[in-house]
Amino acid sequence: MSLEFVLASHNAHKVREFQRIIGERMPQAVVLPYDGPEPVEEGVTFAENAFIKARTAAEHTGRIALADDSGLVVDVLGAAPGVFSARWAGSDADDEANVRLLLDQLADVRRPHRGAEFHCTIALVVPESVLAGGHEFAAEGGWRGTLAYEPRGSNGFGYDPIFEPEGLEVTAAELRPEEKDARSHRARAFVQLLPELERVADRLDG
Ligand code: IMP
Repeated sequence: MSLEFVLASHNAHKVREFQRIIGERMPQAVVLPYDGPEPVEEGVTFAENAFIKARTAAEHTGRIALADDSGLVVDVLGAAPGVFSARWAGSDADDEANVRLLLDQLADVRRPHRGAEFHCTIALVVPESVLAGGHEFAAEGGWRGTLAYEPRGSNGFGYDPIFEPEGLEVTAAELRPEEKDARSHRARAFVQLLPELERVADRLDG
């Protein structure tokens, strides 16, 4: 039972992580790159943005599409940066600027109150051209931790250098890629999605 789908992301770091996670847990899947139009992420929830990206890719390619929307949710900042994680310090901001702004905002916040959670929503969109009536599904994953006072480590991307996962004394950027994949919000969301992908593959085979 194999399944072919496009991965609707232009973020090279995320694509690399997904390829590893999918390769580990669904090795028979054929993951196709997506280089079509990138829609404006105007949703206010992770699910809205994930579906905006997956629907655009499914419409553009006529194939099954997966898209994720992810971000960091900091306890003392309510839901922020949340869906604005990639552009927290401005629309052209890079990871370093986003991390620096967040650290400045939390400068006076003591360690017991520096809790945060990475969140990932993966949207699956099966277009009508592939399955009669079409099909949509969303899966979620979270990863709790504490925010450090200074960045440490050079693996990963985004806020990884200041995110100390629960139960560990290192940051996510100090983990080896396979250690991050074993516990990350992205991997947990994919594990939730897996049975649904297998159901879709069965319906296509049947
Ligand atoms: P998106 O492309 O709108 O989903 O933006 C996701 C943003 O959230 C990234 O640019 C990062 O800033 C942050 N983010 C999401 N997942 C991770 C992760 O695994 N590690 C570090 N930062 C992440």
